[in-house]
Amino acid sequence: MNIVVCIKQVPDEPGIRIDWERMTLIREGVESIINPLDRVALEAGLDLRGRAGGLVTVLSMGPLRSEEALREALAAGADHAILLTDPAFAGSDTLATSHVLARAILRLGSFPDLLLCGVQTIDSDTGHVGPQIAEELNLPQVCGVQEISLEGDSLVVERLSDGFLETVRVSLPALVSVNRELCPVRALPLGALETAFSQKDITRWGREELGLSEEEVGFKGSATRVQRLLPPAPTRKGRVVSGSPHLLVDHATRTLEALGILDEEDGHS
Ligand SMILES: Cc1cc2nc3c(=O)[nH]c(=O)nc-3n(C[C@H](O)[C@H](O)[C@H](O)COP(=O)(O)OP(=O)(O)OC[C@H]3O[C@@H](n4cnc5c(N)ncnc54)[C@H](O)[C@@H]3O)c2cc1C
Repeated sequence: MNIVVCIKQVPDEPGIRIDWERMTLIREGVESIINPLDRVALEAGLDLRGRAGGLVTVLSMGPLRSEEALREALAAGADHAILLTDPAFAGSDTLATSHVLARAILRLGSFPDLLLCGVQTIDSDTGHVGPQIAEELNLPQVCGVQEISLEGDSLVVERLSDGFLETVRVSLPALVSVNRELCPVRALPLGALETAFSQKDITRWGREELGLSEEEVGFKGSATRVQRLLPPAPTRKGRVVSGSPHLLVDHATRTLEALGILDEEDGHS
């Protein structure tokens, strides 16, 4: 079974800052990690390879430093890594990103049996990319999967949808996006990391190698423009009260009574 896992390098959560002028995330100088759900997708791919044989290829679109994420994926056990990188890709929205990833998948020696993605990232967090790749490649897709079993040339998967657990059979080739519950993520062995960072090769493809025009990528290839960026309005008053425990309980009780959350009788019982 040939499996492709799509991996995005994202800023580590506490480091996320915003460039308010360009309305994009500041990625420079921020510690980066593999998007956590993409690590889950990778583990799932490696597990399926263990059961069915085949190869796992990891694919990432991003700047040159995304190579680190791919090297970590190689250390985890992936067979091949491909970085899609080109200054022309800067400013791509999710549609242009999916287009580049889909084109790279078509350019692989043989079409993969299974594409694995995370459901969403922790930075842009749209959940668009997996479904858009599937649409572009005309593949069946199942999103939010938390259990996978292999039955012949189909997968039987479970996903949580609107509070119900659905079991879906999907024929291959297909795209599956995964949830955190699917499987635990192993720590990376130090020796494997050393080998991946010093000895393993990463293939690089840019716009021209992918046969894409300038109009298909970056801002020109994007269907959306960010018009405004606003921090969410605070929903808490953030009032701080200090004093003895007795005074604090009294204060909390009276405040809840005043808001009609607590009856006067309840408050004093
Ligand atoms: C108008 C606009 C302009 C933008 N401009 C910029 C910009 O200038 N610079 C910038 O860095 N970002 C920019 N972005 C954000 C960029 O489009 C997203 O980071 C990217 O499309 C991925 O979207 P997401 O993080 O929401 O992925 P999701 O759809 O939430 O990701 C789902 C899954 O898809 C896969 N995936 C997602 N992205 C990648 C990837 N790059 N490589 C491999 N797999 C992936 C992963 O498996 C991931 O778990 C812009 C977005 C918009 C809307």
